Amino acid sequence: GVVTRFAPSPTGFLHIGGARTALFNWLYARAKGGRMLLRIEDTDRERSTPEAVTAIIEGLKWMGLEADGDPVSQFESAGRHRAVAEELLARGQAYKCYATQDELAQMRETARAEKRPPRYDGRWRDRDPSEAPAGVDPVIRLRAPLDGETIVDDEVQGRITFNNKELDDFVLLRSDGSPTYMLAVVVDDHDMGVTHIIRGDDHLTNGARQTLIYKAMGWDVPVMAHIPLIHGPDGAKLSKRHGALGIEAYRAMGYLPVALRNYLVRLGWSHGDEEIISTQDMIAWFDVGDINKGAARFDFKKLEAVNGWWIRQSDDETLTDALMGERDALPNGGILKTRSDAETRAMLLAAMPGLKERAKTLVELADSATYLFAARPLPIEDKAEAILADGGRETIAGLTPRLEAVSEWAVEPLEAAVRAYAEEKDMKLGKAAQPLRAALTGRTTSPGVFDVLAVLGRDESLARLKDQAA
Ligand code: GLU
Repeated sequence: GVVTRFAPSPTGFLHIGGARTALFNWLYARAKGGRMLLRIEDTDRERSTPEAVTAIIEGLKWMGLEADGDPVSQFESAGRHRAVAEELLARGQAYKCYATQDELAQMRETARAEKRPPRYDGRWRDRDPSEAPAGVDPVIRLRAPLDGETIVDDEVQGRITFNNKELDDFVLLRSDGSPTYMLAVVVDDHDMGVTHIIRGDDHLTNGARQTLIYKAMGWDVPVMAHIPLIHGPDGAKLSKRHGALGIEAYRAMGYLPVALRNYLVRLGWSHGDEEIISTQDMIAWFDVGDINKGAARFDFKKLEAVNGWWIRQSDDETLTDALMGERDALPNGGILKTRSDAETRAMLLAAMPGLKERAKTLVELADSATYLFAARPLPIEDKAEAILADGGRETIAGLTPRLEAVSEWAVEPLEAAVRAYAEEKDMKLGKAAQPLRAALTGRTTSPGVFDVLAVLGRDESLARLKDQAA
């Protein structure tokens, strides 16, 4: 069966590009009834941190992209990587190189002077190790083919031909016995039974080098799919301002995982003109061969629109749970912890039909729910205060006894009472509703004011009105 893998380096948190790579791997595994494995590429001991490992695993979990089986640490297989390097050495597919740092620096210098990429010149390729200088610990290099071509038959990029002259005898094992990324990736992918490598196209040339290692070991080369990187809206490399952020930042901005999956899958893959795609449909429709070759552009406006769509179509219960569940991640989530959970949940659920219509993110949703939980006397925003000051308080004083007289505290009778009052006073309904909204929410925008009255309930509504009628 199909085995894909996501292989992040834990030198930073899970960023948006990594999340999309994980999504493609996850989708392909789900689409084919296979498995997606998670390998933490922690061989760089200086830059890898346990916090980053945790953040990556938590980020994937939150995104709904959990791997099959436990995460594998690349560092833990260092012994196995070494053994493969020794095996290549024994078979004459690799050799020990005793070139000193000075010699390597010299090679780089020459390359720079000749304006070509640096390349190891193969000076120890055929030299007898008995000539080894004393006191130099050798590295092990691949004995790469000197001529001919290496082909990467890429599912996304097509058939890419590399001239072997450009792929030098790269290092497999460092002089301290630690494996290089190039060796470790190949050994791990082989040992983990990976059938499909889906990753960023910045690894395309590595794909050619890795192919040489597979060939030298006589192993099957997995299918490769190098996906275009995500660029900013201006076509340049994705910057922080344009979205190059960790997944936890998207969480704090109030995006739903289902919406992020929807938005990210569309960055580089499409199914007709569908903008809104459920995860189920993605799984049914996804194929690596359909990933676009061109770089995708990240667009916050589109992400917001997609998120707003998913918020509006979520049922009230699901959305209430999502909001409650994200309280700690949202910068303004604290307001949802001022009452007991049961009370908060009940109030959110009652208000949700009015709240979700206008919110594009959970942050906006929490913000528009603030009026529910605010303590009396309510803080009144400037614009709302202006309405109250400009005759609004008199209107409220007139309306309050009418509302008090309503026998059933529900949207329709409340609306009828306000209408009757407005007609009597020859004012437009809006003119009566505005000060009500200001007094009940402290703001000039909110869900429908009759919904607000109904959701707050009789006692709280009348108390807020009386606070302002004075
Ligand atoms: N660890 C590499 C990275 O984070 C990915 C290696 C791979 O997918 O082969 O860029």
